Amino acid sequence: MIYPRIVLKKGKNLSVLRKHPWVFSGAIDLIDEELQDGDLVCVLDSKENLLGVGHFQHATIAVRMLSFENSVINSDFFFLKLQQAFVTRISLGLLSKTNSIFRICHGEGDGLPGLIIDFYGGVAVVQCHTLGMYKQLTAVKEALIKVIDKQLVAIYCKSKETLHDIDEVEDGYLHGSCTVPHAALENEIMYHIDWINGQKTGFFIDQRENRTLLGRYSTNKKVLNTFCYSGGFSLQALCKGATLVHSLDSSKRAIELTEQNLKLNSYKGTHISVIADAMEYIKNLPEDFDIIVLDPPAFAKHRDKRHQAIQGYKRLNAHAMRQIKAGGIIFTFSCSQVVDKALFTHTVIAAAIEAEREVKILEQLHQPADHPISAFHPEGEYLKGLIIQVL
Ligand code: SAH
Repeated sequence: MIYPRIVLKKGKNLSVLRKHPWVFSGAIDLIDEELQDGDLVCVLDSKENLLGVGHFQHATIAVRMLSFENSVINSDFFFLKLQQAFVTRISLGLLSKTNSIFRICHGEGDGLPGLIIDFYGGVAVVQCHTLGMYKQLTAVKEALIKVIDKQLVAIYCKSKETLHDIDEVEDGYLHGSCTVPHAALENEIMYHIDWINGQKTGFFIDQRENRTLLGRYSTNKKVLNTFCYSGGFSLQALCKGATLVHSLDSSKRAIELTEQNLKLNSYKGTHISVIADAMEYIKNLPEDFDIIVLDPPAFAKHRDKRHQAIQGYKRLNAHAMRQIKAGGIIFTFSCSQVVDKALFTHTVIAAAIEAEREVKILEQLHQPADHPISAFHPEGEYLKGLIIQVL
């Protein structure tokens, strides 16, 4: 075995045998005292049979499994995983004349826990969520150069915000370079992406299909897009014929990004920017909107905040339901992983009861195919949404 060994307690091998990628600290029997955060380890069952290889961390999730075999983790290993992920995205048509924004690697969903890679018209933005992945950036870079090949302009590492407690982490170009903002396409619409100063890797790619769906609902409609960030939903609505779009965000910078993105595209409708707190603003709307989009940031990042989060979703949705005109449509979302699909639906139903409005669920929404969920890691499901009609 080429990596230090971690031996699990008797009976604690089952979830790893089922290919769940997380080993919790409570499952570990024997561990080398010298192990450092980010080290590669071989995980063994209590009889010392090898279960696989992963990244170690002194934390509740002690090992994130990269392989369920005796693999060597090097650039060839990353090449095989990333090539499979990239080829899937290509076969989904995500790199075309009309679309150049997509996620190449979605952590556990692509068999690489701790690694996010987003693609913006030639630029791959890598975000590490574990020190183990960060330590392997050279191998990841070499693999990406081979996988993306001629379509690759630059690779940028943006891991300071996700690994903020580790001094050695630095952001910067690992390969090539590119000025920001950089224009790229999402389903025919042009956006300026700024991975250096923007939120996350620069754009919320996970809403691509839902934004496009909003376009289909928007012809001749008045739309309020709350929590708009860089205006993704607003642009889809305007470019598909909305007569009026209000984009609202509490961040002035987000509204600036929205306005820059509006300038990159042509449309006929009217646009109004609003810097405000969505929860307050929505209590008393200035217009009779036909469609309201509610896409708040995660209200709960941990299970212990779930109850509070549900109250937040209920309040937000109830206000929107009270304010929207009869027959109006609400696109409502939650990206809190700890609030699952059923709980979110129940929360929206509770909001309808509170608002005393009759509500129909027209469509159920989720994260797109470039944000896959490993069947062995259901925790990977985080984005859910509903299109509801309020009568
Ligand atoms: N819908 C966006 C992504 C939303 S991200 C898209 O398609 O790209 C969440 C956004 O909510 C961020 O831009 C953040 O600035 C904003 N936000 C957070 N709290 C808010 C609040 N209380 N009121 C309004 N906006 C808020």
